[in-house]
Amino acid sequence: MARPKKIPIDGMKCTCCGLYQSLDNFPRDKHYASGYKARCKICLNKIRKERRYDYKYEHSPKGIANTIKYRSSDKGKLNKANYGKKWSAIPENREKMREYQLKANKTLLRKLSQKRYYETQNGRAKKREKDIRYKSKRRGSIINDFSNAQWLTQIKLQNGRCFYCKNKIDLTIDHIIPVSKGGEHTQSNIVAACKSCNSRKGNKIWLLL
Ligand SMILES: [Zn+2]
Ligand SMILES: [Zn+2]
Repeated sequence: MARPKKIPIDGMKCTCCGLYQSLDNFPRDKHYASGYKARCKICLNKIRKERRYDYKYEHSPKGIANTIKYRSSDKGKLNKANYGKKWSAIPENREKMREYQLKANKTLLRKLSQKRYYETQNGRAKKREKDIRYKSKRRGSIINDFSNAQWLTQIKLQNGRCFYCKNKIDLTIDHIIPVSKGGEHTQSNIVAACKSCNSRKGNKIWLLL
């Protein structure tokens, strides 16, 4: 939902240093309701510099050695243990955690059942149908209503043989007018063709006799 924009007229208070300053001192940012970042340029530069320093130091050999030393010290271990305890002692955080876990479990269950479905015969067909439809849509086809049932019918119609060479080999979907040439992913534009005919045809339009 879009928030109503509060457009500051002459200046704003920086949330970092608390000084009221003219708008020239704030970087523009359309993600903020006001159209400007909440912190002044001076404060932001200071933060940036500090962070860069921290990053450099923490990734230097000396910084890494110090971190390891601190983490393995009694004080470091205690701090680490206390940090988690302190965090989970706040009821709000516990609630947050529970919500997060529930959500993660739900997602996992959904993914698992989807995976199981895609391993069945029906699921495999559905997935292939979905994939091909998506592919042809990406190539610019407007009508994408070819279903798996129609595919099976088409194979039956061709007695399981390739539309072009009449061989009984692995059949693939072939667009009579290629999707790249404006053909649609729909029943009237699809025949079953073997892989070699399909690739030999490429994106050419073969005249049907
Ligand atoms: Zn400031
Ligand atoms: Zn063929």
